[in-house]
Amino acid sequence: MTENTEKRGFQTEVKQLLSLLANSLYSNKEVFLRELISNASDAIDKLRFKAVQDQSVYGNDSNLHIRLSADKDKKTLTISDNGIGMTRDQICEHLGTIAKSGTAEFFKNLSGDQARDSQLIGQFGVGFYSAFIVADKVTVISRSAEAAPDQAVCWESDGTGEYTVSTVTKADRGTDVILSLKEEDTEYLEDWTLRSAVTKYSDHISVPVEMLETVKPEKKDDDKKDDAENKDENKDENKDENKDEKEAETAEYTEWKQINEAKALWTRSAKDITDDEYKEFYKHISHDYDDPLVWAHNHVEGAQEYTSLLYVPKHAPWDLFNREQKHGLKLYVQRVFIMDDAEQFMPGYLRFIKGVLDSNDLPLNVSREILQDSKLTSKLKSGCTKKALQMLSKMAKDENQDNYKTFWKEYGSVIKEGLVEDYENREEIFDLIRFASTHNDSSEQNVSLQDYISRMPEKQKNIYFLTAATYAAAASSPYLETFKKKGIEVLLLTERVDEWVMNQVTEYKEKKFISVTASDLDLGELEDKEEKEKQENQAKENEDFLKKVKEALGEQVTDVKVTNRLTDTPSCVIGQGNQMMTAQMRRLLEASGQKLPDEKYTLEINMDHDLVKQLAAETDENRFKDWAQLILDEAILADQGALKEPARYVKLVNSLLLHK
Ligand code: ADP
Ligand code: MG
Repeated sequence: MTENTEKRGFQTEVKQLLSLLANSLYSNKEVFLRELISNASDAIDKLRFKAVQDQSVYGNDSNLHIRLSADKDKKTLTISDNGIGMTRDQICEHLGTIAKSGTAEFFKNLSGDQARDSQLIGQFGVGFYSAFIVADKVTVISRSAEAAPDQAVCWESDGTGEYTVSTVTKADRGTDVILSLKEEDTEYLEDWTLRSAVTKYSDHISVPVEMLETVKPEKKDDDKKDDAENKDENKDENKDENKDEKEAETAEYTEWKQINEAKALWTRSAKDITDDEYKEFYKHISHDYDDPLVWAHNHVEGAQEYTSLLYVPKHAPWDLFNREQKHGLKLYVQRVFIMDDAEQFMPGYLRFIKGVLDSNDLPLNVSREILQDSKLTSKLKSGCTKKALQMLSKMAKDENQDNYKTFWKEYGSVIKEGLVEDYENREEIFDLIRFASTHNDSSEQNVSLQDYISRMPEKQKNIYFLTAATYAAAASSPYLETFKKKGIEVLLLTERVDEWVMNQVTEYKEKKFISVTASDLDLGELEDKEEKEKQENQAKENEDFLKKVKEALGEQVTDVKVTNRLTDTPSCVIGQGNQMMTAQMRRLLEASGQKLPDEKYTLEINMDHDLVKQLAAETDENRFKDWAQLILDEAILADQGALKEPARYVKLVNSLLLHK
């Protein structure tokens, strides 16, 4: 150790990560190569980007490459690049901490169950630290493009708790990552193992990856002639004679040879790219260990010229609903890498989409600030959004629905945000949405609006839906009784976003969305004449009774009416608006500090129910009050799943039960 050597501890999260890796999390060890080559390629991309402004950063070394070399004696594998490099501070920051937002939270979610954790960690992406899957010591020697040769830095760790950094001298710009391989992983010193991993993982990156190759020089023409002439018994003799001379001419030597294709994948024509290549490229840009669900690759020409390659990950990121979540596309301008996580090109409800956008029209010196309010940005965004929606709708129409089911399970509630966020594409988004419905006897969300409409009886003009806190509450809701009796399908919405979304949308293909809890539920032609007459007659006949119930309940209700929606239940409550706020929504709003007025209900009564008949026949004033209260409480309980004063309710029920 030299004077300037400093020992530092890893951030707690890094330690946790490293101990997971040490327990050989991966069945697929060779991913470490993808990660390290990927980092080297990123470093070269960053240097190229810098050079757009200032060519001088190249110095005398503008031939950018990544090099792999194995030393069988020392059992080391070195991955070198002449990219942007790192300073001492940067190396400590990048290789000692995990800078992702919400990291601590993520680690709290780890359970200690390896199978589950490895799933999670795969989504999180371990990047550089994957080196410790195969190495028991990692040495990184790096010289930043801005640093002098004697201001390079050496970082070293055995991947347990600490690392050291010291200032060293390095002749060339860039980074060498030197892996001291574990005894059981020395296969990564073998030429063919490395080659096959590189072609698998790195064909698509735009930087050449090189390995040393032994070259036998081609024989000169007159040598060949010589050979041909000497094809007789004297051959051996002749050869022997010239041996020394020939050896000098044909001496083997080594040379760096490019082993990957090194053409940015998205610039190639889609028909020449295999599925495996698309998948590998996805892993390179997304840091995901899983294959993507689908992808779409488009070259667009015309007013704007750009290429987009968009992917849907198989799993939603664990921080999908974290506001600080980084998302967006990798932005290139004329094939020069500009930035990661350019979130300007995808709307919020498509924030899970990963991919690349390569624009020919944006200026090379574009910054986040410029992107923010550029007209071109919004045009590109609208183009990319359309491409993404097309990709999703294609998957939705696939005969094999497996992918779409996965997609819907992972991203359904995010897509719904689009109904409010993206008015322009509302119809396309509606077509992506899948609902639970009374048509199914399970909670599965697999009914599209097209399915629903195709099943609507001719007389039905509206789309009926119900929002509730859970599927169980929705499926057994008394509000569905009439609909069930008439065989009318009702969509059941039970996700958090549903209430908010359904308050904002009014119609789809000229069919209105009507909540089955709406105050003025109009069944239109679905209600037959007789029923309507019966309801009107009942209302007239029971005018006094209804008034009496209203008086008994006082301030708690705004009105008491004869219902048209119940068959088996005595009563239900209807809110003021088009839709009633569920208890869950109330709690949410209250938790966010909003003051909510006490909800006032209209009580609807089913005159055919025995309990109601009993109430109507009750002559004792106090008992009438109690029964009326019970009928209201029951209705609130069924709707909200809770009462403000449960104890009072229990007391009431008990007293009514005991009174013979
Ligand atoms: P990610 O690539 O997702 O950022 P990694 O763990 O792979 O995460 O790398 C962490 C950081 O370390 C990178 O973002 C980069 O800043 C730095 N880094 C890693 N390898 C290199 C390299 N070869 N050259 C320059 N910087 C590097
Ligand atoms: Mg990386």
